[in-house]
Amino acid sequence: MSHQADINTFLHPFLSSKGLRLSIYNMEAYLNNVRADLSLEDEDLKEMTAKFKEELELGLEKHNQTLRALPTFVYRLPKGTEKGKYLTVDLGGTNLRVGLIELLGSGKFAIEKASFIIPETLKTGSGEKIFEFIAENVKEFLARPEVQAELPLKLGFTFSFPIEQESLSHGRIIGWSKEIECPDVIGKDAVELLQKALHRLGLDIAVEALVNDTVGTLLAQIYRDSRTKMSVILGTGSNAAYVESCANIRKLAIEADHTVINIEWGSFGEDSPSNLPTRWFDRLLDSESRNSGHQKFEKMISGMYLGEIFRLILAEGVKRKVLTRCEDSKSTSKLDLIHGIGTEEMSEFHQAYIEKDYIKCSEIGEGFGIECENGDGLLQFIAELCELISLRSCKLCAVGITAIYRHVHNFDDEEEVFLVAVDGSLYQKYPNYAKILQDMVCSINSGPEANSCKIELVMAEDLSSVGAAAAIAAQKE
Ligand code: ADP
Ligand code: MG
Repeated sequence: MSHQADINTFLHPFLSSKGLRLSIYNMEAYLNNVRADLSLEDEDLKEMTAKFKEELELGLEKHNQTLRALPTFVYRLPKGTEKGKYLTVDLGGTNLRVGLIELLGSGKFAIEKASFIIPETLKTGSGEKIFEFIAENVKEFLARPEVQAELPLKLGFTFSFPIEQESLSHGRIIGWSKEIECPDVIGKDAVELLQKALHRLGLDIAVEALVNDTVGTLLAQIYRDSRTKMSVILGTGSNAAYVESCANIRKLAIEADHTVINIEWGSFGEDSPSNLPTRWFDRLLDSESRNSGHQKFEKMISGMYLGEIFRLILAEGVKRKVLTRCEDSKSTSKLDLIHGIGTEEMSEFHQAYIEKDYIKCSEIGEGFGIECENGDGLLQFIAELCELISLRSCKLCAVGITAIYRHVHNFDDEEEVFLVAVDGSLYQKYPNYAKILQDMVCSINSGPEANSCKIELVMAEDLSSVGAAAAIAAQKE
């Protein structure tokens, strides 16, 4: 390349011999912007932790605050000695899980389960269809001879959306999240909706407990280990629950020592923009969402949204001519469609890059609609983008965990380990997510108030329905 050509490339990065793709100079400049947009410094995290704690404490003091901090009517925590067989239903944002759970005592249990993807067609329109879908799958599950043999069974219902509980077995749907929009059932009792759908199919099953998925995960892990104080969900959505002393719940007079609070943490910072540093892609994502203006914290953290942030940044890269579309890509590709790239695919790319399987990376990248040869820094660029987006998610989640820890922890009790049960496919499957989250939590807590990190995250794989069973059983003991 002549000296003149070199200068041209520098001055006009798009005019290189490789056509529009290139230029490393241009890509580096774009990446620097993205790095700055996705970075959160230690000081930012400490400040956000303090604000999260403030919002949580407001939510406990008054109704209808940014953090709803919903009381759950769980007054008896499982001891781990409970026994019995229960039918469970767990409705998430992506999956419906139906199970037969046997609590064996001594913190052990056995599960037989079936999992179904919730069809996209049910996510808008009448919410009754969702409950019909649950009932149909329960009916199919009950047809298994080994389940038939256990009838009659009581049912524990895990519901991963905000509910205003009226008792352990009743709760009104406050609203949907995770891009479900079925307004006709808002304000209705989720248990009644399920109970009626079951009866319509002739199923004589009593729904005895309703728990949020965070609450289910917490109760199940308490059943396994009484040192558990908190739970976090990192799946389609993100949320957390923890054990609270009733004296601290000033908005409600409760005659019990302790209960579980479902924080509904996805809405942190929603009403105070200075509490949550959103960027152009967060705002774009929010504006195209079915619940625009809501769940802004969740939208920076959870599986439903990380792939979309990734897509928006890649698509902007194409627009700025930093990246090039595949020549054979059709007029529309995944890159052009809202939610066109899922977190699973982003995760698959990241995993392949970590394993140095660059051929697979190129194939996945081309599936997105981007020309992806190795050797020009492009795969590295995409992999760094995956890392930055997932790292920001980990950091924000660590902020929430730390704020709750600081709110409840008795710092005199030096020896106590603070166990946090974590569930959801993002946490389980995204490369290194679980390890980085643990490291982040410890790094925020390395200040003078904690000598060493007492917060320990525990993988609570698919436990949310076990907790619904434990909730029913614990009431009888
Ligand atoms: P639910 O939220 O319905 O309870 P999960 O906890 O299984 O279900 O979470 C499903 C979400 O997890 C998917 O929508 C996706 O965003 C994310 N996910 C699934 N597989 C992976 C993966 N391999 N890597 C990262 N995220 C994943
Ligand atoms: Mg779930």
